[in-house]
Amino acid sequence: MLNFLRAENCLICNLSAGNNFFRQSELLRLGVLENRNTNPHLSFLMRHTCKDCLSKLPLLFPENTWSFEQSNLEIRALFAYKEPINQLLLSYKFYHNLYLANWFAEIMFLLWQKFWFDYKEQAVIVPIPLGKKRLRQRGFNQAAKIAELIAGFSEITFLPDFLIRQRETARQTEMRNRTARKTNLKDAFMINPELDCFACKIKQENLTVILFDDVTTTGITLSEAAKPLLAKGLKVSATVVATEHQVKTRQQLESSTYGGDFV
Ligand SMILES: [Zn+2]
Repeated sequence: MLNFLRAENCLICNLSAGNNFFRQSELLRLGVLENRNTNPHLSFLMRHTCKDCLSKLPLLFPENTWSFEQSNLEIRALFAYKEPINQLLLSYKFYHNLYLANWFAEIMFLLWQKFWFDYKEQAVIVPIPLGKKRLRQRGFNQAAKIAELIAGFSEITFLPDFLIRQRETARQTEMRNRTARKTNLKDAFMINPELDCFACKIKQENLTVILFDDVTTTGITLSEAAKPLLAKGLKVSATVVATEHQVKTRQQLESSTYGGDFV
């Protein structure tokens, strides 16, 4: 909590972020087009992220969406699951540094403003639910917390209980291989029967369900979660904070275009 109150410190390296300013060229490259003085999301980012850390973030190219082989579900991720994002996510999830939810939500909203804007009134955001036991252990749903903030910024309807887990599952990271991961989650998700009316409304209005999770590795969780939605005839896409899937980072793409200049 202390970090959050000391607003002038970078949340990533803990050094002062106060004297840093972001160059316009850098921001343009990150897709931030709005006037810096009037954009509250940009000023949040500037207060909590130093210039050095910003330039080193393992950002993926915004257009870089992909599908895993097992489904046609389109997935988009903001970051590669690498330093410092993996550390920040662990700190958020397992050490309950909940202020990091704000940082993730602000940067995801800011860098993808056009994406959220395009989906305004065209989508609902549904986080991947935790099982009851896991939720009790952790005390919060890490994906839902970030998703709720983004939904607030973008004015997209947030439906936290739309999907539920029909049974407890083991942690995906504990599964030895892909087959075990798949079996572990098979038919694990269903649409909350109490919200069936929402499913009809979403279909009638032709809205897209944006599934939201913090990390995806094999995509099995997302594609299993999409199943009951697709079975209802709903449009589904998925958004995650970070992925271990091999997608090129901005630095990798730009080092060939800009000769490594990324300041
Ligand atoms: Zn920093």
